[in-house]
Formats: sequence, C-alpha cells, structure tokens
Amino acid sequence: MDTKLFFDQVEPATILGKACYAVVGNPIGHSQSPWIHQRYAEQTAQAMYYGRMQPSIDQFHIYAQAFFQQGGQGLSVTVPFKLEACTFAKQLTPRAQLAGAVNTLWQDGGQIYGDNTDGLGLVRDLVAQGIALKGTKILILGAGGAARGIIGPLLAEGPVAIMAANRSLGKAKQLAILFGELAQSVGATLRAESIEDLETQASSGTLSQFDLVINATAASLDILSPLSNHLAAQLFQPRTFAYDLVYGKPTPFMQQALQHGSRVSDGLGMLVEQAAAAFLIWRGAALSSAINPRQVLAELRHALA
Ligand code: NDP
Repeated sequence: MDTKLFFDQVEPATILGKACYAVVGNPIGHSQSPWIHQRYAEQTAQAMYYGRMQPSIDQFHIYAQAFFQQGGQGLSVTVPFKLEACTFAKQLTPRAQLAGAVNTLWQDGGQIYGDNTDGLGLVRDLVAQGIALKGTKILILGAGGAARGIIGPLLAEGPVAIMAANRSLGKAKQLAILFGELAQSVGATLRAESIEDLETQASSGTLSQFDLVINATAASLDILSPLSNHLAAQLFQPRTFAYDLVYGKPTPFMQQALQHGSRVSDGLGMLVEQAAAAFLIWRGAALSSAINPRQVLAELRHALA
C-alpha cells in the first residue's frame, strides 16, 4: 500500500512544524473547508496545515489510514464518504452513532475517533439567525446522510413536532424509527411521509403548517426543488423560515419560499459552524472564545460573491 498518498503531494517545507489536517471527499476541488480552517487557525494563532484529499470511491479507507499513519491529526469527511468514515472510526460519539455518519475524524492515543458536527452546525447557524427552535414545528425534506445528521441535534432543541418527508417513503420511515425514542424522550412527535403524500395533502387542504422547512435533499445540486410550486404555495408563509443545506446561489427551493414572503437561508453558515465545532475538537475547546465563525462566514460570503 502506498502510505504517502496525501503527504507525497505536499511540499515538505509547507507542513514543517505544523499539525496536518485535510478534507476528504470526491469530488473535493470545490470545498471551502481549507479556507475556513485556515482562517480559524489564523484567529487562534495555530501552526496548522489543512489540505484536500480525493480518493477514488472505493479507496477511502486506504487514504484515511495512510493519512493517520503518516502523522495526520484530523480529517473532515464529506460526500460520499460519511458512512465509510463511520466504520473507519473505532470510537464514535453518541451523536455520530445515532446519525450513522461521521464528518470529523481524529487520532488520539493511537485510536481513531469519529463525530458528526453537521447538526450542531445547523442549530448554531439557525440560532445565530435568530430562529428559536423550542416549541416549533419543523419539516425536514430528505432522508439521506445530512437528514440523519441533523435530526438528533434539532430534537435536542425542544421542537414540538418534526416531520421527515422524503421522495421515497421507506427512508423517511427508517429515520422516524431510528429517532423515535429520542423524540419521545423530549416530548416531540416525529412522523414520516413521502413528498408525494404532502402534495396530496396540499391539494385536499389538509397539509400541516410548519415554522421551519429544511431542504436536506440533494435536489438543489441539480437546480431543482423537491417541492412542486403548488405544494410550495401551501407550505411557505411570511412566518415560515426556509433553510436549504446547499449553499451558493439562491436555490429553486429558496426562490419558491421568497415568492411567498418567507425568510430564507442557504447552508453556508452551517458549513462554517460545523467546521468550527470540528476545529475545537481537534485543537481544544479552550480556543472557543478565540474563534469567530460569524466573521469567517461574512468573509467567505464576500469572497464568494
Ligand atoms: P444523500 O445522497 O445521502 O441523500 C440525498 C437525499 O436527497 C435523499 O433523501 C434523496 O431522496 C433526496 N433527493 C435527491 N434528489 C432529489 C430530488 N430531485 N427531489 C427530491 N429529493 C431528492 O445526500 P446528503 O444527505 O449527504 O446531502 C444532502 C444535501 O445536503 C447535499 O446537497 C449536500 O451538499 C448538503 N449538505 C450540506 C452541508 C452543509 O454544511 N451546508 C452538510 C451536509 C450536507 P431519495 O432517498 O428518494 O433518493
């Protein structure tokens, strides 16, 4: 096995005396994570190098193992490797275990640990935007890895109800089963529907109202909305907050919400906040007062505009 898959590509002088981290995904060229972590390293005066790794789809374990064997200290994990990262880690935090997906890996005492900071990142971004979650009704569209990562942290904020709606009903039902006990323990109802069912309810006037609608599907990547215009018209009101996990230009989902006077957000703040949580896991919670995720978010938005 080639044990220099990552470090071979890095100029030795670039990493001399620095702790090494990377984001691993495929594709990875578009990732903003190196920029974000470099800014956190600057804010906290940490000697840190943060690069990118793009294994082919079947080579995650080989790359990750080589990275840690060569002295790498932590990895951010993105699409499509979050489930594999979960099996790669020998110790999982409870929230990673529940999500069945890992976005943050680190090595400690020769052991590989895994956590999932996506949900915490979302909650922190919502709170920073003035969205109170206690007592709210939340609709989550999608039932993939991202949805699994956010349900637990959202439930912990005390909503009264979460509905998970997916294109294929089976995956939404799996989510409801997986998080059913947690929902019950915080006194929230958790239901599963297909998006088609929501369309039918919109036509018959029986659709529930939600305070927060989160698009955790990958539809925006194909410049599509998971909602028909008819369903969007029933869901979005001026009092609704619509959040798309995808970031960049306003997505079709965000445009539908804007048409009906709802407040909207993309997922850039979530990306910056989940990175902040990972950075503190790696470099120590004592640095929490020295990092400023909202400043990093403002700078990133400016750079991407
Ligand atoms: P997955 O591939 O695991 O899941 C994709 C989900 O999207 C499935 O529920 C799928 O439904 C649904 N879907 C795909 N296309 C459509 C469509 N045209 N209409 C309706 N539903 C559709 O992806 P992830 O869960 O990992 O990621 C979802 C999104 O979240 C991605 O776009 C990703 O970039 C973003 N993300 C953003 C983060 C951030 O920090 N801002 C963090 C993590 C993710 P079905 O099951 O029926 O196939």
